[in-house]
Amino acid sequence: MNLLLAYTAAPQHATLSSVISTATYLLAALLFVLALKWLSAPTTARRGNIAGQVGMAAAIIGALLHHQIISYEWIIVGFAIGAVIGVPMAIWMPMTAVPQRTALSHAFGALAAALVGTAHYYLFDLKHAPPHAIVMGFLCLEVLLGALTFTGSMMAFGKLQDLLPTRPLTYKNQNIYNLLLLASAIACGVLLMIHPQWMWLFPVLLLLALAFGVLLILPIGGADMPTVISLLNSYAGLSACMMGFVLDNKLLIIAGALDGASGFVLSIIMCKAMNRSFTNVLFGAFGQIQAPAAEAGEKKTVRATSPEEVAGILESARLVIVIPGYGMAVAQAQHKVRELYDQLTRRGVEVKFAIHPVAGRMPGHMNVLLAEAEIPYDKLVEMDEINGEFPQCDVALVIGANDVVNPAARHDKSSPIYGMPIINADQARTVIAIKRSMNPGFAGIENELYTLDHTLMLFGDAKGVVGAVAKELGENGH
Ligand code: NDP
Repeated sequence: MNLLLAYTAAPQHATLSSVISTATYLLAALLFVLALKWLSAPTTARRGNIAGQVGMAAAIIGALLHHQIISYEWIIVGFAIGAVIGVPMAIWMPMTAVPQRTALSHAFGALAAALVGTAHYYLFDLKHAPPHAIVMGFLCLEVLLGALTFTGSMMAFGKLQDLLPTRPLTYKNQNIYNLLLLASAIACGVLLMIHPQWMWLFPVLLLLALAFGVLLILPIGGADMPTVISLLNSYAGLSACMMGFVLDNKLLIIAGALDGASGFVLSIIMCKAMNRSFTNVLFGAFGQIQAPAAEAGEKKTVRATSPEEVAGILESARLVIVIPGYGMAVAQAQHKVRELYDQLTRRGVEVKFAIHPVAGRMPGHMNVLLAEAEIPYDKLVEMDEINGEFPQCDVALVIGANDVVNPAARHDKSSPIYGMPIINADQARTVIAIKRSMNPGFAGIENELYTLDHTLMLFGDAKGVVGAVAKELGENGH
C-alpha cells in the first residue's frame, strides 16, 4: 500500500483525475480519523472497522487515478501477489496468531517505505540539483525507521511464531552497543543531509538500520512482543509519514501520523496495564528463565473438581464473575462460554465478565472473542470497575487466565509481575479455575491462586470442560 501511495506526488495541473484523487484522499483521511474514534469502543468497533476499510479503498482509488502513473502492469502484478499472500492469511490465520500476523504487516509496510526512500535517493540528480537538507533529513528518517522496523518486525514475527528462541538473548554491554549502532546510523543521516552526494554513506545507513532492528529485538522476551509490535507499528507509521513529506503526499502524512500516534498510545496503555516502563520493556530483558521456586517450601495442595460439581456450585450462586484469559482464546471456548452464560442467566444467576486490559495476547482480545459469541456488551466490565465486586461474588470462574489473576503481583516484590494490576479473583467466596495443567502462564511463574483453600481446579481444555458444565446444567435444567 505504501508503495502504491508513493506513486503520487502533488499534482501540478488540476486535471479531472487529480481533483478526484485529491477528493478521495480527503475522504480517506476523514474515514481514518473516524475509524480510530469508533474502534475505541466495543459498541462502535464494527463501524470503525468498516470506516477503515472504506477509507483504505478510497486511498487506493485516489492513488490509482494519479496522473503520473504511466502503466498499470506492475501495479496489477503487485496487487495479485499481495492478494495471493493476504487473502489466505486473513481467512486461515487463527485469532491467537494475530500479533505475529500484525508483525508481518508492519514488516512489509516498513520495507515498502524503506525501498521507496532508497529509490527516491538514487533518482535525485545529486550533481546538478542536490536535494535540500530538510528533504534529505526526512528521507534518511524514512529509510532508518523503515529498515529497522522491517528487521525488527521480522524478528518479532519469528519469536512469536516460535521460529526463533522466545527468551531474551543478552550479552554484556548490549544496550550500549545498540545505542552506539543507532547513533552511528543517525550520524550517517546527518552527514547525508549536509553532503547528499556522499553516495557511499547511504548503503551504510541502510545496513546499520537493518542491523539495529535485529539487535533491538534480541534482548526482548516473547512476553513483551505484543507491546513491541505496537511500538514497531508506530515506527512504521512514522516512516510512512516521513515518506509523505519526501513525496509531498498529504494522505501519507496524515495516515502515517495517525498510525504513529495510535501505535505509540497503545504501547503506553499496554505498558501501564502491565505496570512496566518503556525502558523496562525495551531494555529490561523481561522473561529470562526464572530460577525454580525454593525447593524447601512445603508442597501445596491442589483441589481438583469435576464438571458435575462445578455445575452444582454455579447453579446455587447469586453472582458469578467469569475471568477469561489466553486459554479461552486458544481453546476457542467463547461459544461454550455463551452456552454457560445462557444456562446460568436462565436460572436467575447474575453473570458478569471481568476484562483485564492485557488478558490474552493483544489488547481487546477478550472483548473481540466475547462479542463474537454475542455476549451482551454491558456484561463485560473493565478491571478497575469490577474489582470492588469480588468480596460479594459467590464464584470467580477463571477460564484460561493465569498471570492476570496471580495475587503475587500484589505482594511478592521478587515476582516479575510485581506491580501489575490484577483481577481480584482470589477475593471471591469460591474460585474455580479452568486450565489443562499446573503449567504457568506467559510470565512463566507459579500462581498461588490455584493453591488457595477456596480454589477448585477444573482440569481440561476450556472448550471441552465449559461445554461439559453447560451440558450438565442443561440436563439438570427445567
Ligand atoms: P496467561 O498466558 O498468563 O495464561 C494462560 C493460561 O491458559 C495458561 O496458564 C494455560 O495453562 C491456559 N491454557 C492454555 N491453553 C488452554 C486450553 N486449551 N484450555 C484451557 N486452558 C488453557 O494468560 P492471561 O490471559 O492470564 O495473561 C496474559 C499474559 O500475556 C500476561 O502476562 C500479559 O502481560 C501478557 N501480554 C499480554 C498482552 C496483551 O496485549 N493482551 C501484551 C503483552 C503481554 P495450561 O497450559 O495449564 O492449560
